[in-house]
Amino acid sequence: MPDAATTIEANSPFELRVNLGAGMPETDVRTALATGDMGFLHSFTTGSAVDGPGVRVVAWTSGCMWRCRYCHNPDTWTLTNGLPVTIARAAEEVRKYRHGLKTMSGGFTLSGGEPLMQHRFAANLFAAVKAMGVHTTLETNGYFGDRLSDAEFDNIDLVMLGIKTWDPDRHKALTGMDIEPTLALARRLAARHRPMWVRFVLVPGLTDDMADIGGIAAFAASLGNVERVEVLPFHQMGRYKWERLGIEYTLGATAPPTDTSIEEACALFRDVGLTAY
Ligand code: SF4
Repeated sequence: MPDAATTIEANSPFELRVNLGAGMPETDVRTALATGDMGFLHSFTTGSAVDGPGVRVVAWTSGCMWRCRYCHNPDTWTLTNGLPVTIARAAEEVRKYRHGLKTMSGGFTLSGGEPLMQHRFAANLFAAVKAMGVHTTLETNGYFGDRLSDAEFDNIDLVMLGIKTWDPDRHKALTGMDIEPTLALARRLAARHRPMWVRFVLVPGLTDDMADIGGIAAFAASLGNVERVEVLPFHQMGRYKWERLGIEYTLGATAPPTDTSIEEACALFRDVGLTAY
């Protein structure tokens, strides 16, 4: 059962949160997903400088169908680990900070988990936040990109798309899912000239094959709408969650990438004309 003291705001997404929506009847969960009147959120965090431009308020959704071996938030995999939150309450959380967000050239980011697991809630929340005049960002693995219409994507100022690896077989082994829907969303956003950042997690021994990274770089460069590439170094901050959740963790012996390998990966993106950090 949820801790009675659990609030929607967290100090960081690395707080372990489970079973917050476990008491909700299955039919209510289905209705919430279908209407988007209610969503399931791991938490809100404020003051993030790493989840989009400027300072961000971030809503972390629960629910993800991928099983990335390096995921640092496996407690967000299960939808009902999240706290059921009405769309009005979620919008109000952003409204509280709207003036500061605008002043600091920041905005609101919906991340997860995978936000488009709750695509009606995501669409409703982006519409509400956009109407406040606040910059909106979606962080997604792209798999369910076809669940939002073009008009709904127009309420999203920036899509931060995670591309995990390039080779399709390696992608399947790493995430459990096919890469093609992710690439299809990238092409669709490019065709509509919608701003996009690419996020890539560099994991020694898993995603650090330079030819493979070169494949992502060439693809990203071909799109024409990629404003930035973020090379994110693997870390062990989520390890305790795997252990606490009793899920086998295969990267216990994996060290963070060296500064040199991070720079080499960034260079591959820069070599094809992209801005990479
Ligand atoms: S897509 Fe993101 S939330 Fe889902 S398993 Fe992968 S890293 Fe975790």
